[in-house]
Amino acid sequence: MRGLMQEHGLMISALIEFAALYHGDTEIVSRRVEGDFHRTSYAEVRERARRVARAIEFLGADAGERVGTLAWNGYRHLELYYGVSGSGRVLHTVNPRLHPDQIAWIINHAGDRIFAFETSFAPIIQAIAAKCPQVREWIALCDADAVPAGLRDVIPGVHSYEALVAAHAAIDVWPLFDENLASSMCYTSGTTGHPKAVVYSHRSTVLHAYAAALPDALNLSARDSVLPVVPMFHVNAWGLPYSAALVGAKLVLPGPALDGASLFALMDAEDVTSAAGVPTIWLGLLGAMREQARAPRALARVIIGGAAAPASMIAEFQDRWGVEVRHAWGMTELSPLGTVCTLKNKHLAVSPQARMAVQVKQGRPLFGVEVRVVDAQGMDLPWDGRSMGDLLVRGPWIASDYFQSGQPSPLQDGWFPTGDVVTIDPDGFVQIMDRSKDVIKSGGEWISSIEIENIAMGHPGVAMAACIAMPDPKWDERPLLVVVRKPGADVGEDDIKRFFVDKVAKWWIPDAVRFVDAIPMGATGKMLKNRLRERVLDQQP
Ligand code: AMP
Repeated sequence: MRGLMQEHGLMISALIEFAALYHGDTEIVSRRVEGDFHRTSYAEVRERARRVARAIEFLGADAGERVGTLAWNGYRHLELYYGVSGSGRVLHTVNPRLHPDQIAWIINHAGDRIFAFETSFAPIIQAIAAKCPQVREWIALCDADAVPAGLRDVIPGVHSYEALVAAHAAIDVWPLFDENLASSMCYTSGTTGHPKAVVYSHRSTVLHAYAAALPDALNLSARDSVLPVVPMFHVNAWGLPYSAALVGAKLVLPGPALDGASLFALMDAEDVTSAAGVPTIWLGLLGAMREQARAPRALARVIIGGAAAPASMIAEFQDRWGVEVRHAWGMTELSPLGTVCTLKNKHLAVSPQARMAVQVKQGRPLFGVEVRVVDAQGMDLPWDGRSMGDLLVRGPWIASDYFQSGQPSPLQDGWFPTGDVVTIDPDGFVQIMDRSKDVIKSGGEWISSIEIENIAMGHPGVAMAACIAMPDPKWDERPLLVVVRKPGADVGEDDIKRFFVDKVAKWWIPDAVRFVDAIPMGATGKMLKNRLRERVLDQQP
């Protein structure tokens, strides 16, 4: 017997319609590459997104055709999010921090026909335009008279976004189509080989937006002012542009100014209540908070994900500044949210140390994400908080395959292998111990490089730490710690090693400590351990 409910597909366009109808005057505030601030509203974003839909139709975009973007977090990018996907085309966000050759490769692989870019990225576009012959139309995200000088010499027909929006009337209604059709795509960071394309659907995006907004997830509401520091060019800024519209939250979009002082000032000015970003961003903000001797005035919560949040960072936000931390784990392939660490009722009464032991974990799966931890033979391991194994996941917003990868689907019996090594405790809290390629295999046992880093980051003289495997004739691999000292700190190798005593098993203590000026970081805020390994191990005595 079938249910007798209406079969309305889940459409991304419905999110902006909803936001415009019930939160039409809620603000979207953007710092622009022009340097100034811009204020708009959900009503205006809907109107202009509908114009974008008409404009790209005029430019010849068929249904399902890819429209690429190279842009910061800002209102024009938001309009493209809704105008492109809502009208049945596929928004392909590209990470500007990648090498131009890789950007060109990604644009060609995705088959982008229309490409919109921030004027600050004009040099990249000038360098790659000739290498992307199938891009028919280039759109500079600026006023008609602000198209950068020199660009027209390379791309004579380059459009101004504002001229296009002004020249086209809004479409009357958004098209309705199969909710499983593609809405957007994003390439994984890919430390080896070519990046791989994850393709989201309208259904996966709307379901993820619902789940991400829940109280025990990102806890978003119409009373929030939300600052996604996470970029709209990577995994749809953790879905915040969709979740914010779904609840009618104010959006504050930081553009290119991601240093601590700029973020602090923006949070203060726009009464930001909730912000999301990777740990390196929060190191910057914490620095600004120490300088100002206070937290941004309305900031209630930060979401930390993309890499492990050290206990010292969680403690400083919460204990010193009264800002709640939600530690989250996800992947491009998971849209991205998989788990969020929100305490249960029973944790509220435990000691601060016991609570921190929970909060350094990456948290419980959202409803919709199923998890398993398995050994090398694929056998399930117990959820005892100790047994380390590979994390498998499945659910409606988890990738089933990559776009034209030339490889078979990565799924194993319907489960996606994350490549992360984890433990799961009896309450279902997942702790990411390592990427499987980074875990240190010492004498047949595993040492979690993340745990070693986390402890090192608690040392007052350590600004940043990375733990990597060094080859060892007896044990196979042993941990080597690479440290960036805090300015002025004169901490040495023995101090650091002593700091580990009583904090981990003796055989987990790094054999050696090397001091460097900086740790190489990738385009999505993660440490580039393979590059570090080459660099540091080459210099071994
Ligand atoms: P990406 O697809 O670029 O978002 O990278 C996903 C990977 O980042 C995951 O597979 C993890 O290895 C890592 N990651 C994400 N969030 C966390 C976290 N909170 N703690 C540790 N690692 C994380």
